[in-house]
Amino acid sequence: MKTIDHIYINGKFVKPRGNEVHNLINPTTKEIIGQVTLGNVKDTQDAIAAAKEAFKTFSKTTVEERGQMLQRLHDVIMANSDALVLAAVEEYGAPIGATTARLHFAAKNFLYNKEVMEEYEFVKYIGKAKVVLEPLGVIGLITPWNANYTHISTKLAPAIAAGCTVVIKASELSTIQTQLLTECFHEAGIPAGVINFVNGRGDVVGSELTRHPDVAMISFTGSTQVGKIIARDATETMTRLTLELGGKSPSIILDDADFSKAIPLAVMTGFSNSGQACHAGTRLIVPEGRLEEVKNLVKKTVESIKVGNPLENGTFIGPMVSQKQYDTVQRYIKLGIEEGAELVIGGEGNPEGLEHGYFVKPTVFANVTMDMSIAKEEIFGPVLSILTFKTEEEAVDIANNTIYGLSAYISTSNLEKANHIASQIVSGRVLINGLHDEPKAPFGGFKQSGIGREFGAYGLEAYVEPKTILGYDTPEI
Ligand code: NAD
Repeated sequence: MKTIDHIYINGKFVKPRGNEVHNLINPTTKEIIGQVTLGNVKDTQDAIAAAKEAFKTFSKTTVEERGQMLQRLHDVIMANSDALVLAAVEEYGAPIGATTARLHFAAKNFLYNKEVMEEYEFVKYIGKAKVVLEPLGVIGLITPWNANYTHISTKLAPAIAAGCTVVIKASELSTIQTQLLTECFHEAGIPAGVINFVNGRGDVVGSELTRHPDVAMISFTGSTQVGKIIARDATETMTRLTLELGGKSPSIILDDADFSKAIPLAVMTGFSNSGQACHAGTRLIVPEGRLEEVKNLVKKTVESIKVGNPLENGTFIGPMVSQKQYDTVQRYIKLGIEEGAELVIGGEGNPEGLEHGYFVKPTVFANVTMDMSIAKEEIFGPVLSILTFKTEEEAVDIANNTIYGLSAYISTSNLEKANHIASQIVSGRVLINGLHDEPKAPFGGFKQSGIGREFGAYGLEAYVEPKTILGYDTPEI
């Protein structure tokens, strides 16, 4: 049993004033593995005050000084990688292979941002003006449970690079992971008050961060529903916002693709992070005349996927993070059947022998139409929908027929066609023939998938504010 009864303010681990206690549960076994004492509004205000005070000096540090800090943050996370990975497996249920890769990415984020910062022009000249890109101030970082280390580093690294100070509010479901990560930040010797961390509920700590006049910006990753609450709460103080929200991403498989590779790839993309991924390609859009072949390949692929203990090598799908998430996934599977979709594989209940945890059956529906809830709404679990098209124009229409616009996937052997379709897709990222990544290219959503971008120079830019100085070279009136 772990007892987490400290938050991190002004370089010290301190007891929170809040006294609400929350149980921490291992989703693989449903056992209580710890308890956390949650911070309250006053704790949040103390953390904001510490960040505000630290900003006075931190905002004046040099690129070189901040570069050394980013390097140290990377090094210390890598030095503690085994413990961090195990905590994510235990607390979140993420399969160990993918968790290790994500942890390495989270550490690398600090180095990518170091490079971006070193190349970034913090002073520009535009005609007669000198334009200074100044650090924004205190930033509130609010993150979800599905990739805790990645989300925190994706926000913290550009904040440090820009010269901002932060208060982190991670998900209550990621407390053990965030506690370990905060210990790493402490070990990295970052000046007191630059990084502060408060455990707590979204509608208490998150809400106070959003409304507080001394917080210049909220960088949020989470559901579209909570993103809308944050956007409303931020209006009063004109708090800047970066919102990384939900998705219902399409995987378009064209007739000329090699289906023996494209269909397994599309299924694995849809099930990535046990289906709990914002960018998961959860709508497979396939040629109508090839539906039977697609269903057979989907079945074969799903049967080959290992669902089970996230600690075992080779496991691709672990448990859902919580009872709530398990119930949500079960509800959508039931709804898909009730709405008349054809169950290709999977269904309600736990996979056989996995009744002890929040495990669900990887499930795929065919004959799905865009008016069905399973086609429109983000499920955030391993549940995929197959939709069919007659023409490529129709495939694009189906892909764009959503309130979301985070990611899209295209498989075809005709690259010209792929790029033409990519230009018509309304989405922040389009991946052609594979799961490519470029950590310095922007990531974010069109439409209700968000506002703003993360990663690279676009990500850094969210943490600075341009100040135009005219007459900077005028010695006297
Ligand atoms: P969530 O929106 O329920 O919670 C996210 C965070 O917001 C948590 O820390 C929560 O405590 C906090 N919060 C809740 N209410 C709040 C309020 N009123 N004010 C301020 N903060 C509040 O999301 P979740 O269930 O933790 O994560 C799953 C969601 O995250 C999915 O919708 C998924 O698509 C989204 N997500 C998006 C991306 C992306 O990059 N676009 C990445 C990962 C996850």
